Amino acid sequence: MTNPQQRAAAHAQALTKVYGQGETAVTAINNIDVEFIANEFTAIMGPSGSGKSTLMHCMAGLDTASSGATYIGDVNLSQLRDKEMTALRRDRLGFIFQSFNLVPTLTAAENITLPIDIAGKKVDKAWFNEVTERLGLAHRLGHRPAELSGGQQQRVACARALVARPDIIFGDEPTGNLDSNSSAEVLSILRTAVDQDGQTVVIVTHDPRAASYADRVIFLADGRIVQELRNPSAEEILSTMAHIEDVH
Ligand code: ADP
Repeated sequence: MTNPQQRAAAHAQALTKVYGQGETAVTAINNIDVEFIANEFTAIMGPSGSGKSTLMHCMAGLDTASSGATYIGDVNLSQLRDKEMTALRRDRLGFIFQSFNLVPTLTAAENITLPIDIAGKKVDKAWFNEVTERLGLAHRLGHRPAELSGGQQQRVACARALVARPDIIFGDEPTGNLDSNSSAEVLSILRTAVDQDGQTVVIVTHDPRAASYADRVIFLADGRIVQELRNPSAEEILSTMAHIEDVH
């Protein structure tokens, strides 16, 4: 029996991703089985080229599996048509990228509600106010991205992901372009979203400090999961990384 507390928000079954063909083929993901449990914060780590981004992109429907399958809830992404995939990404997933990915001509408020507006849905005003207040954006809502600091822009991207209440938020190096104060802010925003709002968060990071905010850290090497830690400290993560880099 599946414990309802342990429901997977997303999972992969025998996921393999090969880029290219013949002699130049690269196996970026090699037969991975993984579950991302609902209401957990997971960090994916590993040396450069170990397959972190590919895994996240396959999980989030931004890239396709060569074999095996990825699921959001119980929806098998490989069985979706392009239009259905676009709708699923829009309706059920949130994204936070290293480069913020805000629309420069729109205000912070317009950026935050953009996915909901595109979906033709109504913005939950009370929730919008709570999220923007909590993220310290209430007085910045009329600003365009160029008028905001990097940390503020990433908080707008977090608000955009949170306001839509997605099943799962994927972050691809979400703190990669931020100073340590802004990184800590963004990470505690994600931590609160998990603890307080029941959100599910999966990030790729190479920063042990960032990963230490997670409930669970998964380590990749050569396209496979080679290690996993629960509630680790930054020091444990650092020494695990050093060990993995020595071995691989
Ligand atoms: P990481 O995020 O851990 O740095 P990636 O998932 O970006 O690793 O890459 C894993 C492997 O797949 C690397 O060897 C990389 O060169 C290769 N790779 C990634 N994307 C592509 C692509 N679009 N075409 C060819 N090879 C790719």
